[in-house]
Amino acid sequence: MEIFIASIWGLIIGSFLNVVIHRLPKAILKDPNANLDCLLWPASTAPCCGHHLSWLENIPVISWVILKGRCKHCNAPISPRYLLVEVLTSASFAWSAWQFDFSLIALIYAIFFSIAICLLFIDLETFLLPDRLTLAMLWLGLLGASLNYLPVTPQDAIFGASLGYVLPWSINRFYLLIRKHDGFGGGDFKLLAALGAWTGWLDIVPVLCGASVIGLLVIGSSAFLKRQNLSMKHAFPFGPFLILSGLSFILIKI
Ligand SMILES: [Zn+2]
Repeated sequence: MEIFIASIWGLIIGSFLNVVIHRLPKAILKDPNANLDCLLWPASTAPCCGHHLSWLENIPVISWVILKGRCKHCNAPISPRYLLVEVLTSASFAWSAWQFDFSLIALIYAIFFSIAICLLFIDLETFLLPDRLTLAMLWLGLLGASLNYLPVTPQDAIFGASLGYVLPWSINRFYLLIRKHDGFGGGDFKLLAALGAWTGWLDIVPVLCGASVIGLLVIGSSAFLKRQNLSMKHAFPFGPFLILSGLSFILIKI
């Protein structure tokens, strides 16, 4: 029963995360210090034509399936990302309740997954990793570790966060010297620092290597399928790979 209730909450929060993924990068690009009222107001509109969504079009998963992934107003396709985010959030909330029942630990993990899902899709769509999300993940990890809710000690979480920042920063300095342009974006340092607070310092190098392997596999196979030539200057978001790799190391420990 708890798992079922958690999965319904996951659907509702997932629907909100779609709003965050859509609106937060736009708000930050306009004004880096924008307040976050824009996430709650105005009411949801369709990204394609701006028409106001009725509650019938706002039911997580069900609306997308009934409308067959198309806008009711202008018939434009609605990104499957909307469906995917709701399903992933629901599954992660169900998992948290299954592992930890209804507890503060489950809540901390549910918030962690929500932030991770937002970061993953925002980086995929806009190449941005907003500080507000990476820093929230970092502080949540440090808080969880200091309360002994996570399988890392507080010292380990602090070392993990520090090394997570310094290591990619140093690699980037080295890369800049040799190739004269950045290898990482600044958001990647903060993201690895945030993940480091959850994994501890020993997992930083494995998380970074894992992300590179996942990245090479995904980009290599998509280039092969599209028969594209990839140059070294081709930019791609690294955040999603860091998140997938970090997540596997975090889940292994539980
Ligand atoms: Zn539309």
